[in-house]
Amino acid sequence: VSTANDSSADCEAPPPSGELEEDNVAYFINKKLHVWCKQPRGKWELGTILSTSGEEASVSHSNGNIMKVARSELLPANPDILDGVEDLIQLSYLNEPSVLHNLQFRYSQDMIYSKAGPILIALNPFKDGQIYGNDYISAYRQKLMDSPHVYAMADAAYNEMMRDEANQSIIISGESGSGKTETAKIAMQYLAALGGGCCGIENEVLQTNFILEAFGNAKTSRNDNSSRFGKLIEIHFSTMGKICGAKLQTFLLEKSRVVQLASGERSYHIFYQLCAGSSSDLKERLNLRAASEYKYLNQSDCMTIDGVDDANKFHMLMKALDVIRMCKDDQELAFKMLAAILWLGNISFQETDNENNIEVVNDEAVTTAAFLMGCSSKELMEALSTHKIQAGRDTITKRLTLRQAIDARDALAKFIYASLFDWLVEQVNKSLEVGKRRTGRSISILDIYGFESFQNNSFEQFCINYANERLQQHFNRHLFKLEQEDYELDGIDWTKVDFEDNQVCLDLFEKKPLGLFSLLDEESNFPRATDLTLANKLKQHLHANPCFKGERGRAFSVCHYAGEVLYDTSGFLEKNRDPLPSDSIQLLSSCSCELLQLFSTTLNQSQKQSNSCYGGALDSQKQSVGTKFKGQLFKLMHQLESTTPHFIRCIKPNTKQHPGIYDQDLVLQQLKCCGVLEVVRISRAGYPTRMTHQEFSRRYGFLLSEANTSQDPLSISVAVLQQFNIPPEMYQVGFTKLYLRTGQIGALEDRRKHL
Ligand code: ATP
Ligand code: MG
Repeated sequence: VSTANDSSADCEAPPPSGELEEDNVAYFINKKLHVWCKQPRGKWELGTILSTSGEEASVSHSNGNIMKVARSELLPANPDILDGVEDLIQLSYLNEPSVLHNLQFRYSQDMIYSKAGPILIALNPFKDGQIYGNDYISAYRQKLMDSPHVYAMADAAYNEMMRDEANQSIIISGESGSGKTETAKIAMQYLAALGGGCCGIENEVLQTNFILEAFGNAKTSRNDNSSRFGKLIEIHFSTMGKICGAKLQTFLLEKSRVVQLASGERSYHIFYQLCAGSSSDLKERLNLRAASEYKYLNQSDCMTIDGVDDANKFHMLMKALDVIRMCKDDQELAFKMLAAILWLGNISFQETDNENNIEVVNDEAVTTAAFLMGCSSKELMEALSTHKIQAGRDTITKRLTLRQAIDARDALAKFIYASLFDWLVEQVNKSLEVGKRRTGRSISILDIYGFESFQNNSFEQFCINYANERLQQHFNRHLFKLEQEDYELDGIDWTKVDFEDNQVCLDLFEKKPLGLFSLLDEESNFPRATDLTLANKLKQHLHANPCFKGERGRAFSVCHYAGEVLYDTSGFLEKNRDPLPSDSIQLLSSCSCELLQLFSTTLNQSQKQSNSCYGGALDSQKQSVGTKFKGQLFKLMHQLESTTPHFIRCIKPNTKQHPGIYDQDLVLQQLKCCGVLEVVRISRAGYPTRMTHQEFSRRYGFLLSEANTSQDPLSISVAVLQQFNIPPEMYQVGFTKLYLRTGQIGALEDRRKHL
């Protein structure tokens, strides 16, 4: 045992950070410890340092190659015993390659869940890993299993809720295709199993997923079942811990998908399901054709999804609608609206003269759409081809240009679909309504699009990234609070560990009157504004904010917590205004279809839209899309603030949607975007290694050169620290635990191994 002393004498202590520092290189050379070595293509490989000269090191790789590399390209690797640890925070060196390696090590053994401190990281397996279902649920419930899992997190939330009578939230984020929606369903499945047994409401809650996915999900280039809206489901429990109701909230449905598709993508699943699965009677009543006959669906040359039977899905949907007790009449009304939208898309226009004026082609599309909507063909044709302007007591009728007519038709289709979606959510909520026995015990699950940064970023990314910026702040503050509480409880001297707050970036979006949203609204109110004038206005007023960068032409950049994003203002004004011509609103209110009447009343209540949208201005009465979204988000944050949050970050290991492929660059970029590396950074700044005195003394006590007379774990721990000359700034001794800076455990482990 006495050799332990010698080794501490001839080697420097390993570095406190994730980096190799000047005085630690010798330690790595002497001990032949592994280092990560950056390869020319950016990949990291393991090696050992043979020697150094100046800023260069000679490194031997496992394949026998010896290479000269810059010292700056080397990072310390963790000892083998830490391979595949469940929590990244347990790693001695928390650098990027170590984090990536650890996750990859676990992924290759089908351990898709890991933790990073309080966060659960879920890597999408793209295969059925057989780790769900009743056996697993009971194993987690009875604590027979405790490895990281969505079940473990749902269990913790449930227990905390029951114990503290405090509302909980599970916040899931990640890129498209990373597994958010599946993860949310897995969490719901666990909660339904725990809180089931009372009048089958847990089944109703689970069935809502199916309904929402039919109407709100679509095949995109990234995910065959991509959610095109954000969702919060609040599940309420009784004092006995049984589910007694639920409430859904949705955010920012992608309306444009109803009328416009990128190649290889599909519109919302429900359209294909309806066309494929409806009975011949229903088909006849709605004059339904095959999906391929509708322009809104056939424009992208993608009608089916591999492995998905749309007809069968339609039958399941009808069952789900029955489960939430939607009556057959209402179901038929909803289907009728879908058919009306499809027929609207087939309406075409022809020019009547040389002045670009058009009229509607009077064909089956018009007759059917008008029939389904409950108006005459003439009324529909007029609304889609003319614009009436009130001038004093006279009404002037203007013919629309082809572009205007197409926009009017598409705006109508989008409006009907979005209203139908909202109506459906309302029906689901009525069915799941939390009765008067509301108890204050709830778990909310948030499934919302993660940070997005593409080659071309538009208004959608702008809104999504703003939402993520808000969620990130929520996350930072929570984490910071948690850390602080932990330290204080254990009597640790807590000098603030710096962490980046993103308030400056949020101010850039939210400040009035000089913030992105305010300026966007202001410009949307100018009839003659263009995307270029918008960009110039932003540059003029926001250049002083360090998170804003004016770019050439119509572009600007925002420095988000996850990286810089270049936005192109093309289409911003139009998307923010989201106009529906007054003529269409008028038409809707005169339709005999009950649903359309309801939609137009709702619209009229939310805005008194008085004037034209062809002038281009945002009606002063109307709330813009951006402002509405900001309002929804404020409400959401307010709700979340009254809950104890639990965070899940979903990561997709490859873009092919295939099992077994782990693309390091892709994973790294997501770890950055979802703040995992930030957590790791925060932890590194503090004392990430925490061991109780018992654990510590049991593991390292025998290294002591002199038999310690005391049996007290605390004094054994302190003696070990002193014997190995661990500098006082590298640790703190708490009442129950020992707190160590990164890197310290690595050294002790090393001594332990060499005995
Ligand atoms: P989007 O933002 O586009 O809605 P998402 O993050 O919600 O994406 P999901 O739809 O949940 O992604 O997942 C995409 C696909 O990945 C699923 O259809 C499924 O095939 C697979 N997948 C995700 N999570 C799991 C899991 N835990 N086990 C098995 N397969 C999974
Ligand atoms: Mg989803």
